[in-house]
Amino acid sequence: MSKYLSEIVKKIEPYVPGEQPKDKKYIKLNTNENPYPPTKKALDSIYNSLDKLNLYPEPTTENLRRELADYYSLKEEQVFVGNGSDEVLAFSFMAYFNPEDTILFPDITYSFYPVYAGLFKLKKELVRVNDDFSLDAKLFKKENNGIIFPNPNAPTGKLMELSEIEEILKNNIENVVIVDEAYIDFGGESAVSLIDKYPNLLVTQTLSKSRSLAGLRVGFAFGQEDLIDGLNRIKNSINSYTVDTLAMNGALESIKDRDYFKETTEKIINTRERVTKKLKELGFKVIESKANFVFISHEEKNAEDLFKKLKENGILVRYFNMDRIDNYLRVSIGTDKEMDTFLGKLEEILKL
Ligand SMILES: *Cc1c(COP(=O)(O)O)cnc(C)c1O
Repeated sequence: MSKYLSEIVKKIEPYVPGEQPKDKKYIKLNTNENPYPPTKKALDSIYNSLDKLNLYPEPTTENLRRELADYYSLKEEQVFVGNGSDEVLAFSFMAYFNPEDTILFPDITYSFYPVYAGLFKLKKELVRVNDDFSLDAKLFKKENNGIIFPNPNAPTGKLMELSEIEEILKNNIENVVIVDEAYIDFGGESAVSLIDKYPNLLVTQTLSKSRSLAGLRVGFAFGQEDLIDGLNRIKNSINSYTVDTLAMNGALESIKDRDYFKETTEKIINTRERVTKKLKELGFKVIESKANFVFISHEEKNAEDLFKKLKENGILVRYFNMDRIDNYLRVSIGTDKEMDTFLGKLEEILKL
């Protein structure tokens, strides 16, 4: 490592995204991408924006924020837009926490949180997820300077009820509670409805999963005006133009097209339920999922083995070599055809 790096950069352990191998054509069920294309209206809008690329994008993303505010019955000032929700999350860590602060998050969760904690010099405190992977709101009642968790949780897909989230918010009214709703559109109820009641609530969402626009890089945050102002202060101290013209216009049309959104999310939910049933018949324990993936473990077969054999057969799923979940696989929900291929290969592999 170069001697020119800062102490913090030498020490951080960066996040490792799911693999995107190019050696052959895989069925990709490893990064929770949406198998359906984005709405054509978004693509047309992106195409029609090409002749505006000589100009800087609109720095406040006003039209997009207005559309999102309308979607959730919020005020424009309660909406922030960023370059993917990962960026929005990183900005949140900068806006709400001080170095040496203690941040609480589940021991089984999105692996970017510990990376941000390291980068911004926070102390991590883990909340143990129950053995059935549910989260106990009561366990978030302890010393902290901030809390973050996904709902539904990743990589388990398990949903927490709003009443429990409300309990966490009440018990931590002095600290910011970030609810990462990357997967909320696949069957959960958004905590956005609690924003007017709780000044400490920040909800983040993304176009990457339910809107089929992972490649466009657009994420949002919702919260009371003062909290959102914190994110704007960070953004305008780093880069005024985090969301480019193409992304802004594509995102706007995607949010507007409610019919297409409903159609594709419903398809994924139906496929998820069908696949869940079939996996259970094949001897898998399947955690009840409200996301666009299932988290599964076989009664007899080793998960890492299954992961390798599926890969040899052209199917990529995600395996985490981590404490408590090292005998599980996370399988993204693809099209019905992709899932049938997956189930067919899996059935063959299980017979070996
Ligand atoms: C995918 C994911 C994100 C990141 O979404 P982007 O908007 O693509 O950056 C954030 N949180 C969780 C839990 C995710 O799974």
